[in-house]
Amino acid sequence: MKKPIYLDYNATTPVDPEVAEAMLPYIQSQFGNPSSAYHIGRATKEAISKARSQVAALINADPGEIIFTGCATESNNLAIHGFMLANKEKGKHIITSAVKHPAVTEVCKYLGKQGFEITYVPVDRYGRVKPADVEKAIRPDTALISIMHANNEVGTIQPVKEIAAIAGKHKIAFHTDASQSTGKIATDVQELGVDLLTIAGHKLYAPKGIGALYIRHGVKIEGLIHGANQEKGISPGTENVIHIVGLGKASEIALRDFKRNRQNMLTTRDALLAGLKSKLGNQVTVNADLINCLPNTLSIAFENVEAHRLAEAISDDVFISTGSACHADSIEVSSVLQAMSIDHEIATSTVRISTGKFTSAEDIDRAAEIISGAVKKLSPSI
Ligand code: PLP
Repeated sequence: MKKPIYLDYNATTPVDPEVAEAMLPYIQSQFGNPSSAYHIGRATKEAISKARSQVAALINADPGEIIFTGCATESNNLAIHGFMLANKEKGKHIITSAVKHPAVTEVCKYLGKQGFEITYVPVDRYGRVKPADVEKAIRPDTALISIMHANNEVGTIQPVKEIAAIAGKHKIAFHTDASQSTGKIATDVQELGVDLLTIAGHKLYAPKGIGALYIRHGVKIEGLIHGANQEKGISPGTENVIHIVGLGKASEIALRDFKRNRQNMLTTRDALLAGLKSKLGNQVTVNADLINCLPNTLSIAFENVEAHRLAEAISDDVFISTGSACHADSIEVSSVLQAMSIDHEIATSTVRISTGKFTSAEDIDRAAEIISGAVKKLSPSI
């Protein structure tokens, strides 16, 4: 039996073997507490410092602006909740968009119950926020704008640079969730002009259980849990050295291989789309504008075929997801597709296919055969 083809890189990525190798000494022998003054402690402290520099280099930040966290969800909580707690004098209003991940929505919902006020700006048919709509939503008490860099379900890239410029003009802090964009498109904090940026380790070929938050120098964040002074007290607790080393190495590789990986994601994604179109013709609808889209992501509907039935039919051979993988066992139309006003029939027939740096041309040929074969079988005969 042939190996199943993994086409769900937006859900999570496998750990890069180079990353695993870099982590190994910290699993096997380098166990010192980074806060200890003797040499095995100093060794892990240095490993963290190296990783911080590697992550910073990936996004063109200063290493002192990187905080390691447990995951992107924690980074988003710190960036939104932690920012609002530390900057109460700036106001209680937050602007975000109608397309976002629960790691932002749920934080906003929670803050809404605590007396903060949230405005959700709409998106267009492709899930893109209009910078002018963000500007219109600004109030004298707006303290923070949070717009994701690229969407996990449809891949739409937001005009983050333009929105950050508007935020800057009004002296409002700007956060972007770059969980899906780092390593796939240029994610340079200076170029984008953002104040806070979220990174997810397991979308970047590092293991699960590690994330990072970029905090521009001068931006105040209050920690949400309290303890010792690790990670400037913003994310305290003895450091997860093994995973931090992994995220550092993954960031170094993402920067080193950026062009090649990006090209491979794009080539394989586009070849799959071409293959599916040639086999299924008009039955195929793409939900995103592929120009302003992550190079690896394909949000695609097959007319008259329920997405979950398709995903299930091919699940021994090809791994794809319906809706967002983080809440995958629901067949409800995702809030992202709803916000994009996608027709209900199309939305329930939509699957997300996401390629990665390990996807090969052979995988794509096989996947196109398997997916199109299943679509034909599941399509009602007319
Ligand atoms: N933000 C985005 C855009 C994501 O796609 C995800 C995961 O799917 C997250 C945040 C949350 O990441 P984690 O579950 O690793 O905290």
